[in-house]
Amino acid sequence: MAGISRPRGTNDLLPERRWAMEHALRIGLSVSSQYGYRHLETPIFESTELFVRGVGDTTDVVTREMYTFQDRGGRSLTLRPEGTTPVVRAFWESELRQAPLPARLSYWGPMFRYDRPGRGRYRQFTQFGVEALGESDPELDAEVIAVAWRWLEALGLGGTSLQLNSIGDAICRPRFREALLRHFEPHLAHLPELDRDRLRRNPLRILDSKDPEVARLLATAPRTTDFLCEGCLEAFARVQEALSSYEIPFQLNPLLVRGLDYYQRTAFEVWHEDLHGAQNALFGGGRYDGLSELLGYPACPGVGFAAGLERVTMLAPAPPAAPGPLVWALTAQPEGAGAVIRIAEKLRGAGLAVVADAGGRSLKAKMRSAERGGAGLVCIVGAEELRQGLVTVRRLGDGTQASGPADSVVETARALLQSSE
Ligand code: AMP
Repeated sequence: MAGISRPRGTNDLLPERRWAMEHALRIGLSVSSQYGYRHLETPIFESTELFVRGVGDTTDVVTREMYTFQDRGGRSLTLRPEGTTPVVRAFWESELRQAPLPARLSYWGPMFRYDRPGRGRYRQFTQFGVEALGESDPELDAEVIAVAWRWLEALGLGGTSLQLNSIGDAICRPRFREALLRHFEPHLAHLPELDRDRLRRNPLRILDSKDPEVARLLATAPRTTDFLCEGCLEAFARVQEALSSYEIPFQLNPLLVRGLDYYQRTAFEVWHEDLHGAQNALFGGGRYDGLSELLGYPACPGVGFAAGLERVTMLAPAPPAAPGPLVWALTAQPEGAGAVIRIAEKLRGAGLAVVADAGGRSLKAKMRSAERGGAGLVCIVGAEELRQGLVTVRRLGDGTQASGPADSVVETARALLQSSE
């Protein structure tokens, strides 16, 4: 009978990948906390309505990619496809909104999108992100970018470039949208259905198109930055100035828009030279001052980024290996199991990591497992030791060994560990 495979587009994070991810997350938390960001977690599923309103019902995420289901109470719930909308909801539903603003928050966790799986694109993936809520200072946009950038630096991840754009606001974006429509109108008949649909429903999304004909037309298309109103222009200049103070290099990219509707003004992505096509972004982020009202809350500006940990760990240098167990306690005597368990528990109680091998294999096979497992010390309870209540502790590096009462195994092990330092 064939076994059941994991669902398409999902991953088993085996210990090495899991460790790399934990390492990346730990560094992300440490860097973001240096900038005053505090960690929070929201549920993995939310009311479907939250994403329909927040992400926007013309986006790919909402129209095609959500994992939506009805629970037994008849509520429509959705596995979260992204983290910003839930963080904004949590902000309003908690005491966070009464604390001094901006609220600087970070989150991480699995996200779910029914996307076409490929390299670096999965149906369940993990994001780490930060959000700064309650202030519209452009310097905060630069701060969020700085957290992302310093995180990459701390991970030793090179080959990246910061792409920066401003996509305007409610004042200036309508004029840009119109100009874009006028530019594409004469060519509508030659465009793929998906892009015609984008132009109809949300023209800015055409800038995301990968179609070669659209790409050709985009080369001469109007640029967001030519349409910015005074407020947006000033804000954009301040973001760039602040980035210069952080000494973070960036490339202006007038074609960059964010796939999600709630963004306005600053939009940015971090690209990596080894990521191509639709998966070239390690991070995406921007300002979303209109989101809070879309969700039915009072107006509240915000800015943030999200990064896919799968992509980050795929490209970052491997972290130092996870510490393995240091001590292995073994016996080949069937009646020695109890002694091995007691010895292992004593050592664990003293803070050591111990594998207890009380099973039926030969001592030789167990010694081999200990060596391959990276043991520093092996505690052996042979027939003689068992009779006398002793244990022999051997240092695998040089074969030095000492025997002592099983009750004093901690002291014997410590003495051997210290004399090797
Ligand atoms: P987004 O929320 O679409 O702006 O994505 C932000 C980041 O999340 C991207 O730059 C990727 O690193 C990651 N990401 C988004 N979608 C996926 C996916 N389907 N699989 C893996 N990572 C993803």
